[in-house]
Formats: sequence, C-alpha cells, structure tokens
Amino acid sequence: MTSERISIKHLTLDELKAKLDTMGLKGYRAGQIISWIYQQYAVSFEEMTNIAKVERDRLAAVFSLTVPSLLQTERSSDGTRKFLFGLEDGHTIESVLIPDDDRQTLCISSQVGCQQACRFCLTGQGGFTRNLAFFEIAGQVLEVSRILKNEGSRGITNIVLMGMGEPLANFEEVLKAIRIITSDRALGISGRRLTLSTDGLVPEMDALGRAGAKVNLAVSLNATTDETRDRIMPVNRRYPLKELLAACRRFPLEPRRRITFEYVLLRGVNDSGDDALRLARLLKGIKCKVNLIPFNPFPGSEFKRPDDAAVKRFQKILQDHHYTALVRESRGRDISAACGQLRERAAAAGSD
Ligand code: SAH
Repeated sequence: MTSERISIKHLTLDELKAKLDTMGLKGYRAGQIISWIYQQYAVSFEEMTNIAKVERDRLAAVFSLTVPSLLQTERSSDGTRKFLFGLEDGHTIESVLIPDDDRQTLCISSQVGCQQACRFCLTGQGGFTRNLAFFEIAGQVLEVSRILKNEGSRGITNIVLMGMGEPLANFEEVLKAIRIITSDRALGISGRRLTLSTDGLVPEMDALGRAGAKVNLAVSLNATTDETRDRIMPVNRRYPLKELLAACRRFPLEPRRRITFEYVLLRGVNDSGDDALRLARLLKGIKCKVNLIPFNPFPGSEFKRPDDAAVKRFQKILQDHHYTALVRESRGRDISAACGQLRERAAAAGSD
C-alpha cells in the first residue's frame, strides 16, 4: 500500500512544490510541510493542523511519511551514544552522538559502506553497498533530535559528516542534505556548525566551493609523501598531495574559518619527526588547524597506534611551527562507535 505512495522525504522543497502544483495545491504548503516534518517531528499529515482537513487527506493519499527507523542504541562508558537505523531496503546505518563540555556533536553517515578503501579504516575494508539518499542523511539528524527532545536532553549543536562513507563521492545527495540540515525551514543548524570530511576528491572539493555550501571542510591528509599516502589511501593515486593541497589553497573559506586537516597517526608509518616537519612545510600558507588522531586499532588491522611520547613529539613540532594542533582521541571505542569503526559488530568479531 505505502509503496504506491510517494515517500515525501525523497522530494526536495522545490520538487515538493512542483508536485503540489500538479495537484492544484498552493506552493507555500511545501514549506509548511517541511517544517512540520523537520521542526515539529510530525509523522502523519493528520498532525499538520494549519493545513485544511481535505488537503491533509489528499496529501496522505499521495504521499507516505516514512523515516529511518531506530533499531538500536548503545551508550559508551565515555558518554558517546551510537544509533543504529534501519532503511527502507533493509540496510542499516549508524550515527554517533558525542557529548562534550559545550557541544553535542552528531557524526552522521553518507553511504552504506565506502569505496575509498583506506587501509587503516574498518569501513574501507568492508566494501561499498550504496549511496544514501539526502533524506536518509538528514533523517539521521532528525531522528536523533527527536529522541533527544523526547528525553528532554540537550539538542544537537554540531554535525560532522565523518561517519560511514565518503561524502563527496555522494555529492548531489550530500549537498541536498546540507541544505535541509541548514535551512531555517527544516533543521536550522548553521553551516558554521556543520563539517564535511573528505579523503580528498579534488573535483568535488572544487564543486563544493562553487556550490557555495557554507560548511566547514575537513581533509583527511594522513601522510606527508605520495609514496606513503598512495599506500594507505588509494585516492592519492588519482589526486596526489600536490593537487590536493592546491585544491585546499583555492577552497573559498568564509571569513575567520579554517580548513581542518585530520592526520591519523600510524606507528612507524607516518608518525616520525620528519613527517611532522614535512607536514608543517606542506601546510604553509593555508589557513588551517590540525587534528591528530592516534590510530584506533581493530581486529586484524595491520597498523599500530604510536606511543604517547611519539604523539606528543609530533604535536609539539607542529605547535613550534605555529600551527593549532590538537590530539583527538577516538570516542566510543567500547561500543564500536569510534573513527573508522562504523560497521556491524559481527564483521569485526569475525576477523578476530
Ligand atoms: N571519508 C571521509 C569521512 C569518513 S572517515 C574522510 O575520509 O574524511 C573520518 C575520519 O576518521 C577520517 O579522518 C579518517 O582518516 C579517520 N579514521 C578512519 N579510520 C580510522 C582509525 N582506524 N583510527 C583513527 N582514525 C580513523
């Protein structure tokens, strides 16, 4: 029955307007409906009381209002929470909520699996299933907001597209999701509080800049020579360091904004003092900060985490060169919610 109706969340605001037009309904209803869904958490047209009853009935006959359904939540000892969602085709995706002193950051997924095959990332080892549609991406924010509201807890303050998948490999849907997340009519979270993390797809980085999406950009650099980066991140063979850093240099930044470079520290691979010096040289002239992430190991992984002294040494060299360099520990490790780990527990356990 529902399969004959159109899932309203597949439609952007403009598409919905066009569809309402063909039904002889007023275009401004589209904005009202979007607000009901994303701001009032409506799950039926019946609730949309500023729309006349006859119109609500017609809408309900044409559209369905399905949402990603929450299957499971887990809470880590450090306060991190993981949410597992079921999609209409039976696939599952995960989002992770990371509370901090003054923020509550939701890390969302953009794909089921990932094609990028980074060697240090568990998601990358599991292969690719499909892109998420924009409403499945924005739906993670909507559903977690709804849960927090029902609990009476603090809402989401920041969003990072750093979960499963490579957001720029799903460019169009991610861009639509960004619009829904940042639109005042919908989720209303400022682009300044939204960060997209890419492994370095240069043409799409340029396209993101051209699209004028006012989001923060994070780039997973993770190496300072093409030789090492080729080995741990296959994307580097297409867009080597020189091209990637040129794309960073020309990326249009809002005033007072900086690019974040993420650098996963892998023992004996990219964590030497020479690497830190090379990194300082590579980033010269780019408005940026560096997040150092000690490798988060998983069963069967070929890499090791450096010891704390090596992490500190790396950080100090960057700081001595006047960079902001923070060490970011992976959160939620005890519930497989940490960096690179958003994959079914069973898959990890299987390779133990
Ligand atoms: N595809 C995007 C976003 C997903 S990965 C990207 O590459 O940026 C999010 C971050 O987690 C990246 O910076 C990645 O380098 C890091 N990461 C992946 N696996 C990790 C691991 N096992 N330990 C620590 N960080 C990891």
